Amino acid sequence: MYQGSCLCGAVVYQLLGEPRRVSHCHCHMCQKQHGAAFATYLSLPATELQYIQGSGAVTRYQSSATVTRGFCRHCGSTLEWRDTTEPDGYVALTVATLDTAFEITDIPHICTESRSSWCPC
Ligand SMILES: [Zn+2]
Ligand SMILES: [Zn+2]
Repeated sequence: MYQGSCLCGAVVYQLLGEPRRVSHCHCHMCQKQHGAAFATYLSLPATELQYIQGSGAVTRYQSSATVTRGFCRHCGSTLEWRDTTEPDGYVALTVATLDTAFEITDIPHICTESRSSWCPC
């Protein structure tokens, strides 16, 4: 069972299934929201993400017509990405907030047309 949390610890979640797709996203919106060269997300069915503490602290910003990006309202940790047209579809979750060791290699880079010139990879 995978478990994760935000920086301040207010929000704690667990994954009820195995992470599916994992990617490093270089799009401009991920760069802005994360304040980083890219964002690393895993995805899994929304029903398999369970907030076990602090779900009320998860604030969702609508970054485009069909997408919300969830973060902890106390510490700002980026947590999730959802397509609002598919509430029962997949949710993407930030790999960096996992507390459980996550062993995976060969993660694909996506949206690389907007890769920053200072990206280390
Ligand atoms: Zn927090
Ligand atoms: Zn992105």
